[in-house]
Amino acid sequence: MLFAAIVFIMLWLFQIVFLENFYERMKIQDVKQAAMTLISNFGEEDYSSLVENIAIDNDLCVEIDDKYGRVLYSRDTMGKSCLIHGPDSQRSAFLRKLANSSKRAIYFKKYNAKISSDTIVLAAKIGSEDNPDGYILLNTPLIPIGSTASIMKRQLILISVLLIIISIIISFFMARRIAKPISRITKSAEQLAAGNYSVEFEGGDYSEINQLASTLTYAGQEISRVDTLQRDLIANVSHDLRTPLTMLKAYAEMIRDLSGDNPQKRNEHLEIIIDETDRLALLVSDMLDLSKMESGSQKLNYSEFNIKSLLEDIVSRYKGLSKKRDYEIELTTDEEMTVRCDVIKIQQVIYNLINNAINYTGADNKVFIRQINKENCVRIEFSDTGEGISEDKIKLIFDKYYRSENHKREVVGTGLGLTIVKAVLKMHGYNFGVSSTIGKGSTFWFEISDILPDVVPGETEKEE
Ligand code: ADP
Repeated sequence: MLFAAIVFIMLWLFQIVFLENFYERMKIQDVKQAAMTLISNFGEEDYSSLVENIAIDNDLCVEIDDKYGRVLYSRDTMGKSCLIHGPDSQRSAFLRKLANSSKRAIYFKKYNAKISSDTIVLAAKIGSEDNPDGYILLNTPLIPIGSTASIMKRQLILISVLLIIISIIISFFMARRIAKPISRITKSAEQLAAGNYSVEFEGGDYSEINQLASTLTYAGQEISRVDTLQRDLIANVSHDLRTPLTMLKAYAEMIRDLSGDNPQKRNEHLEIIIDETDRLALLVSDMLDLSKMESGSQKLNYSEFNIKSLLEDIVSRYKGLSKKRDYEIELTTDEEMTVRCDVIKIQQVIYNLINNAINYTGADNKVFIRQINKENCVRIEFSDTGEGISEDKIKLIFDKYYRSENHKREVVGTGLGLTIVKAVLKMHGYNFGVSSTIGKGSTFWFEISDILPDVVPGETEKEE
């Protein structure tokens, strides 16, 4: 509507208010142009027909005099009302004015009572200004344009009405196709803010609005997911903290009331207390590590080390333990390879993946670890012979606190192991993944891509 009003005001100003002014200026311009043509062609052959043409084309009354003031050419389109010929001629007055003026040409508006309208008069010198070869006098009427203006006024009113109708139609459509869906989306967004995550955002006719709506719907789903995760997280954390705490309390009470005097029983119970405390400590430190990594406050501490020796070292540590429990770790290494990464964190990844493989492997209790040197990375694989992980669960297992519902209680885990693996590998920018066949087992793998070129034996390493 505002746009229509602006267009309307502009039309009104130019067509009605400034019309007269425009017309007058245009007319003066035409008269000046005619005078210029007549001056520049003065004395040429066929001059009289030029005078004739110009007079007719521009509705002019023309007179051209020689330097003594004698009339050379005269052409009249205005009949007796012309101010330079005819009975009311003011010819000599105009010429006097021109002679007194230092200018080459003068023009002015003069009222003509005979035609009761203004006219424009132009007087100019031909040739040099001080000693002219002759004079030109021109006179043309300014036709009153009142009637034209009133026609236009009526047209304008019609245009205005049309403009208003069109703008109402356009506003209506815009409101329906843009504003309505946006206000619908706003309402839904308010619901989302109030905690209704399942709210659907409806789009409209424009792809941008549809996109906005589907993005918001997606955002709602994600918020809902994170919300559920967070709730699960608190439930899991409190559950995982409460179980060992209950055990601690129970065994402490047992020692106080029953086994305090029986050294063998007491030690057994103390052992359980120590185990449970370890578990608590592990859970708390996992949570701390993860929150540090996720907040981005932890930096990687790069160092160079031999990945083959690291794997052998870690596996030998498990060998000591595996005597107590009956599992078997089979390590297959490749050539020696120097890598550059945060050794402490990569070690943690390896530990977590071995622990999972041990915990979830099948009845044969076998775990396989492989080091595979590739062209630009070292791939490390951890395979077990367990139940495997179904396709839909593979997406979830790297999430915080995700634990399969049917996990065995004797499996010691915090539900954070794979989340830490993912965080560390992402910080390093390494590829990682898992492939699994139901009933056959799973293989978790990652690839260290910061490998150092072989150091030629005998050559000393250059200092950086
Ligand atoms: P936790 O082992 O403490 O439960 P993780 O983050 O290490 O936590 O693992 C998350 C889940 O992924 C486990 O609960 C388990 O269901 C599944 N998972 C991990 N490793 C394996 C594996 N090697 N085989 C089968 N399932 C696994």
